Amino acid sequence: MSAADALLARLDRVRPAGDGRWMARCPAHEDRGPSLSIRELDDGRLLVHDFGGCAAADVLAAVGLEFSDLYPDRPKDHRAAGVRPNHWHAAREALASLAPDALLVAIAAETLAGGVPLTRPDRDRLTKASGRIRRAVGMVQR
Ligand SMILES: [Zn+2]
Repeated sequence: MSAADALLARLDRVRPAGDGRWMARCPAHEDRGPSLSIRELDDGRLLVHDFGGCAAADVLAAVGLEFSDLYPDRPKDHRAAGVRPNHWHAAREALASLAPDALLVAIAAETLAGGVPLTRPDRDRLTKASGRIRRAVGMVQR
């Protein structure tokens, strides 16, 4: 089963959106959409983007998948050579997905360091960002 088949089988209201592209209902929020875009690259890797704003890690977690599931299985000789491209890519992807959250946390830290209290909505955003960072770090460390 390809990475695309594994993901699409877990999503609702999947519809083709061109060559190697699909749109589906985002499983991580109340999506009237479909706002989840899935794109299969030539090498079989999948790109997932939610126009509703969910992080890719949350979308995958909502259907029980991980970043490594977005990458096709590699031939065995990679593993024999001690190279784990799947896991390396997955870790890189997980960390790259954190950039917006990392920025938010940095801005909040600078605000607090400047002696300015955070508003309630900012505190809520910070709590969500921090949860996503912890989950992604958990994925990378496994
Ligand atoms: Zn979403």
